Amino acid sequence: MTRRSTRLSLALACSMVTLAAGAASDVDPAAGTADASAAPMLGFSPTRAAAQLALEQRFDAALSATDQRDWLKQMSSAPNHVGSPHDKANAEWMLARFQEWGWDARIETFSVLYPTPKTESLELVAPSHYKAKLFEPPVPGDATSATPGALPPYNAYGGDGDVTAGLVYANQGMPDDYKELARHGIDVRGKIVITRYGGGWRGLKPKLAQEHGAVGCLIYSDPRDDGYGAGDTYPNGGWRPQDAVQRGSVQDMQQYPGDPLTPGIGATADAKRLELKDAKTILKIPVMPISYADVLPFMRALDGPMAPRDWRGGLPIAYHLGGGDAAKAHLVVQSDWQRKDIYDVIAVMPGSTEPDQWILRGNHHDGWVFGAWDPLAGNVALMDEAKAIGALVKGGWRPKRTLVYASWDAEEPGLLGSTEFAEAHADELRLKAVAYVNTDTNSRGFLDMEGSHSLQHVLNQIAAGVEDPQTHVSVRERARAKMRVEGASDDAKPKDKEAAMLAAKGGDLPIGALGSGSDYSAFLQHLGIASLNLGFSGEEDQNGVYHSRYDSFDHYVRFGDPGFAYGVALSKVAGHTMLRLADADALPLRFSDFSDTLDRYLTDLHKKVETARKETVQQHQLLDANAYALVSDPTRPIAPPVRDSDVPAIDLSPLDAAVKHLKQSTKAFDDAYAARAAAGFRATPAQQREIDVAMARMEHGLTDPDGLPERGWYKHMIYAPGLLTGYDVKTVPGVREAIEQRRWDEANRYAIVTARVVDGYRAQLDRLTTLLHP
Ligand SMILES: [Zn+2]
Repeated sequence: MTRRSTRLSLALACSMVTLAAGAASDVDPAAGTADASAAPMLGFSPTRAAAQLALEQRFDAALSATDQRDWLKQMSSAPNHVGSPHDKANAEWMLARFQEWGWDARIETFSVLYPTPKTESLELVAPSHYKAKLFEPPVPGDATSATPGALPPYNAYGGDGDVTAGLVYANQGMPDDYKELARHGIDVRGKIVITRYGGGWRGLKPKLAQEHGAVGCLIYSDPRDDGYGAGDTYPNGGWRPQDAVQRGSVQDMQQYPGDPLTPGIGATADAKRLELKDAKTILKIPVMPISYADVLPFMRALDGPMAPRDWRGGLPIAYHLGGGDAAKAHLVVQSDWQRKDIYDVIAVMPGSTEPDQWILRGNHHDGWVFGAWDPLAGNVALMDEAKAIGALVKGGWRPKRTLVYASWDAEEPGLLGSTEFAEAHADELRLKAVAYVNTDTNSRGFLDMEGSHSLQHVLNQIAAGVEDPQTHVSVRERARAKMRVEGASDDAKPKDKEAAMLAAKGGDLPIGALGSGSDYSAFLQHLGIASLNLGFSGEEDQNGVYHSRYDSFDHYVRFGDPGFAYGVALSKVAGHTMLRLADADALPLRFSDFSDTLDRYLTDLHKKVETARKETVQQHQLLDANAYALVSDPTRPIAPPVRDSDVPAIDLSPLDAAVKHLKQSTKAFDDAYAARAAAGFRATPAQQREIDVAMARMEHGLTDPDGLPERGWYKHMIYAPGLLTGYDVKTVPGVREAIEQRRWDEANRYAIVTARVVDGYRAQLDRLTTLLHP
């Protein structure tokens, strides 16, 4: 379900190609050759590094764009929602392939609560009548758009309900939008709220509507965002046509993802389950996703004040806020709340000498409908890797550590397949897992690198050695060009500017931190296993059909990755990562990249406190001067904002001290690791095993058993999805979110809690460093 921002202005995209082309000779020799003068391959002695590169070349030679294309066509030929016959058939087909390629494979089944729509209707009942179509018709040239068997568009885990009520337009339905409505004197209590996609995770829109007293919620795709406002619509171009609907989960994943009835444990047949009424992640009010053709009559019917300028989208109307009872709708949603079986395909290639160190790789196989982009484009890249690894094994090679390849079911409704697997095998995974490498969708464009910063260097070395199929620089240099150009644009965020500054220095690119939105969540944030998320994306004219019936093979081969060259490139990046982690002499982790990154997060937190303080003082001055009232049109007054609380002293010094000490310790570790590397990593198997196990356990040291405030399932104290942003990451979340939500005592408390976790991590690292000194 990963959704990255795929829009980039055409001008930017063009200038990027030029830049990248200018750097055509800039493929990093460190990764492409075993040249002794180049930076050493992390975790390998020089002779082993040469053998590893040769192995990776044999792996690459077994990859096939044709296979990926054929598999994508077959796997996306019928609807693949959870519980559909074809989603299960795909799992069985993959099982047979893994076995044929020499993997020890099985299907692991869980029984989960997965609601499907029984009754859905939406009508405008005043001032005129309109019945929403809630239907995506076939389009010419898209073979599967006429294929039967799809579920109607719906939002999984919304409440059942039959409501008739007045309408309010609440923009993107985020917290600030409700503050703005209040200034206009509009209350959503007892109303159906219309929200548009964007601004934060989908599931927050009905959740916040419910918290503000609304009785129903609609979520529509505004044409400005991914329809004709973005470009030509399907089938002429790739963007969202007027009847296409973005389905999606509205489970309250910020509490915990996975099966709502079995938080923290695997949803096995005999698991102890919550009663439906006690499941905290299911909403109470009905919610429905709709197309821009369907929303138009409702939006046109709204009266009341004009919506603020930046709330207006691309519909051919004046956007009003509504709020009275002139416009009324009747919304009905009834779901079938039975449990369904889900099918995770798990394939194991046992390690030759270190079978108890697992390198995990995953992508999901369920889609909202056909799912050619999301998730199958990533899934076929994963399959290609498994095939190539099978060929290496048939040729006599064996991984030193164990490889575990997984194709998850039921990611779309809320990361169910991966979460239930991670929870069911939590104890064993905590002991054995070294890292988890995730992909989801994939397409033409730029390599997105996100994950645990201890993996930043090895991933950079790998990305520097894989060629971009269209510009022929390395995929890392192309990503670097993108970072630099985006950071130089006028509307760059501070985060982008910082990334551009780091990218301009040369060397390693900073990788992004992980929030949520795909299957790494349980591994990273619940179990504390170092994780990566990889994928190519970012060209213009791409995925305007996200989570609709038009996310199809025909769409993908026109607008996604026509020649599957980026599918093969993804297999290379992810596959090389798996092979390096599997075969390294010593695990290729570098903790100073983490401590440097944490140091930057801390600088940012200091700035955040100062900004909050300055903005609060300014707001108080404006209120005291009656300025908001005086700029408001007296004939259409807008109330001043609610006075923000004063910002008290926030003491981040425990964190400052912890990070300062950690940086000293990561430096000491790096020195000891480099010394061992220079000596060819000579150690007995038992010594090396002890070091590897201690290295693999480092990420776990960043978790706290009590987890984050009010969401104990999330145990990682450095990376978490935002409580009020959804997929987007919040780094040092205990402190950052407390500051953002003005819970000042909590900010002070979590500065201490997080510092304690960082101190514990440092102590763990210091013990590890002593192991490196023979
Ligand atoms: Zn997905």
